Amino acid sequence: MNKITIAIDGFSSTGKSTVAKQLAKALGYVYVDTGAMYRAVTYYAMNNGLINESDFNSEALVYQLPQIDLSFKFNEALGYAEVYLNGLNVENKIRTLKVSSFVSKVAAVSKVRQKLVEQQKKMGQDKGVVMDGRDIGTVVFPNAELKLFMTASAQTRAERRYQELIERGDQVEYKDVLENVQERDYIDSNREDSPLTKADDAIEIDNSNLTLDEQFNKILRLAKMTIEDLE
Ligand code: C5P
Repeated sequence: MNKITIAIDGFSSTGKSTVAKQLAKALGYVYVDTGAMYRAVTYYAMNNGLINESDFNSEALVYQLPQIDLSFKFNEALGYAEVYLNGLNVENKIRTLKVSSFVSKVAAVSKVRQKLVEQQKKMGQDKGVVMDGRDIGTVVFPNAELKLFMTASAQTRAERRYQELIERGDQVEYKDVLENVQERDYIDSNREDSPLTKADDAIEIDNSNLTLDEQFNKILRLAKMTIEDLE
């Protein structure tokens, strides 16, 4: 059976990773969470004193990029690959609101993007990949056979994100989560290098009123149709 590349882009907390994981499992594809890579670089910057509430030394971060090694290892129990920073599993550490509050600034640095995009292209070179992020259909895989662009209202997204953080045991306020989602969308959509935009040939999916099952079935149908069309 032909393998395709599936690119899923969209605003923060639109459920991209949830559906990408389901899809990868159903098709036997590899799932790559590119947001985790930008988050891991941000976590590195935080731990090395390169970014805080008032300062961001992007030059020092660019200088240290060769020392930042990112990799993924499949976790059987979870059913997806977790991200490793210089050999350490940082999957949980990168999901905090603090990392979220800095990540869009780090992701706006061109040299950071260059490094990660290069790695992402390699990870998807054999196809059979579902990759989610902000620039997958526009920059990483402009020739992807199936491109999706996920949207939902800011409130719906902030509520989902808030629930996730509370379930993890994080002490967060809903208004801070909403503010973060809106701020990240603004920075991601307005940065100079590879801003978040819908690729012309992407299919837009607004999931504000879709259950997870409805969304998954709709997207799985699209993927199967795309694969069949190639045969
Ligand atoms: O997908 P997630 O919300 O974890 O991504 C975190 C951040 O990483 C985004 O808000 C964005 O700033 C950045 N990102 C990006 N390009 C990608 C994936 C994520 O700029 N392909």
